[in-house]
Amino acid sequence: MNKVEEVIVLIKSKKVVAFTGAGASLESGIPTFRGRGGLWEKYDPRVYATLPFVFFTFLKNPDKISEFLIEFYEVLLRAEPNSTHYALAEFEKKGLLLGVITQNIDNLHQLAGTKNISELHGNAYKFRCRLCNRKKIKTKEEIRRFIDRLKRVKFRRRELIREILFFMGRCPCGARFIPSVVFFGQALPEEELVKAYDLIDKAEVFLSIGTSGVVYPAAGFPFYAKSRGCFLIEVNPENSEISGLADIKISDSANNFFSKILEIFDNF
Ligand code: NAD
Repeated sequence: MNKVEEVIVLIKSKKVVAFTGAGASLESGIPTFRGRGGLWEKYDPRVYATLPFVFFTFLKNPDKISEFLIEFYEVLLRAEPNSTHYALAEFEKKGLLLGVITQNIDNLHQLAGTKNISELHGNAYKFRCRLCNRKKIKTKEEIRRFIDRLKRVKFRRRELIREILFFMGRCPCGARFIPSVVFFGQALPEEELVKAYDLIDKAEVFLSIGTSGVVYPAAGFPFYAKSRGCFLIEVNPENSEISGLADIKISDSANNFFSKILEIFDNF
């Protein structure tokens, strides 16, 4: 049996949980953060993704935040799920996958049809009330209109601040909605962590796809899964912090590997 066939047998016979990182969405057109052409080459994460600095930048230089949001959402809006996202959604539908734990914020698993998902780092389309934690999800169309408005306002500081606050909106409880995305230095959402641990506790196979394993606390999950006795499969063209733990290492791109899986899955 080759590795593709070995993985199919495991998926069909064991309880599997998937764990995904930026590499899973690379072939959907979203660069990884650390790879070449990644977002942080251009935008300093201390200014754009770390609290409280992002808040100061928003108040002082909303044009910087606006430029970042335009570029970030334009990449996200163009992206479509790839074979990785579709394969995982298909396995779940067939009752072969317990769920997905993702570090990605791009909503591509959900677009492909995955239902049971732990969004460890939030979701760029989702906003949460800062007081009561109520969630609301924006459509691609709403985001597109928001980006167009930001482009029209350009550098006018007050108007930019107003546009961004108006876009996020207010909760029926009166408090403001804020991004659900987890900023550097913020704790991960408890409900998502509980979901992730629950999935791993039920799993026999842990399928790690496209993650470097350096962003903690999420990077601790492969180690936790291994300590619980999970069989570990890694899909990553490069070696990562997780590779040493892997029982099967697939040195291929995620999209390529899952395309091969999907091709023969039903007839194998
Ligand atoms: P990372 O950027 O640290 O690592 C990406 C990993 O993907 C690397 O190990 C790389 O070798 C691997 N990779 C590259 N191309 C691949 C491919 N075609 N198929 C499979 N693997 C491939 O990403 P990370 O480990 O997810 O951690 C970075 C953080 O950045 C996470 O917190 C994540 O939330 C965030 N992030 C999210 C997105 C997104 O939502 N799509 C994009 C960039 C970063």
